[in-house]
Amino acid sequence: MIQTPQGLIIIGDPVAHSLSPRMHAAALKKAGLQHLDYTARQVRAEELDSIVAEIRERKLAGNVTIPHKQNMYQLCDSISELARRVRAINTFWMQGDILCGDNTDVAGFDFAAKRLVGESPEGLKIALIGAGGAASAVAIAIQSWDDCSLTVWNRSEDRLREFVEEFDYVNGVSLLEDAVKDANLVINATPIGLKDNAHPVELDLLPSDAAVLDLVYKPDETAWVKDARLSSRKAEDGIHMLIEQGAVAFRRWFGVEPDRGAMWDALKGSAS
Ligand code: NAP
Repeated sequence: MIQTPQGLIIIGDPVAHSLSPRMHAAALKKAGLQHLDYTARQVRAEELDSIVAEIRERKLAGNVTIPHKQNMYQLCDSISELARRVRAINTFWMQGDILCGDNTDVAGFDFAAKRLVGESPEGLKIALIGAGGAASAVAIAIQSWDDCSLTVWNRSEDRLREFVEEFDYVNGVSLLEDAVKDANLVINATPIGLKDNAHPVELDLLPSDAAVLDLVYKPDETAWVKDARLSSRKAEDGIHMLIEQGAVAFRRWFGVEPDRGAMWDALKGSAS
């Protein structure tokens, strides 16, 4: 049976940029749960143990963002099969005295990507930029798509090597242009473009009909996504992934579907 949390929290470092508090406040209000707060807490690596003790003590639920997703995996008592495959936790809650963890980024990515390339992706050549926690969720989701290949490039070669060892169906390349040159779908799973208008890869290196999915989100979209659309490509930023991973988390915490329309309005309202 689901145990209603006493409060909600997102932990990360940095965390101030996160739109999850705004998004979940809207969902909580719509569900008649406005007495519950969803707060953001900046937590340094050395503070993670003490915040987890507080979560247990106060029976909190919530989300984890960079850079704690992999460390939280070590601290949960019960881990979903999916989170085990990703080796990262982005959603947690208490069940009695047991701290449970799941990964809803996989479902969030799957939803956002299928909005872009169609409900049943098949035979796609996919290029992935980045090999961190979000990239792992991408790799797990794509593994269940029919006959699609996944080529990954990462800035640090050590992390790329580990990623390819972990996901043996992934092809690692050392030149970014080799990853994207014949791709049907190019995914950015790095923070490039979050703080400025940088592109994770120049668009003229991609085939003219390649779709672009940026996991980074901003109230007014990223420059890479806007420029991809200007060059007649299908393109989306990470906002649909954000809403869907949040909606699946909400279901874990309360056992009911949140109002995704209210979540969307709350996020788009933040552009003004
Ligand atoms: P992470 O585990 O810290 O991984 C970051 C990845 O980005 C690593 O592969 C890192 O490469 C690479 N990177 C960082 N800075 C770079 C740079 N300047 N140039 C090239 N590569 C760089 O973070 P994460 O959890 O995977 O998150 C990555 C991004 O995904 C976040 O910034 C966030 O915007 C987005 N995200 C969005 C959603 C959503 O719901 N829309 C969900 C999760 C994540 P190295 O190995 O070389 O350091």
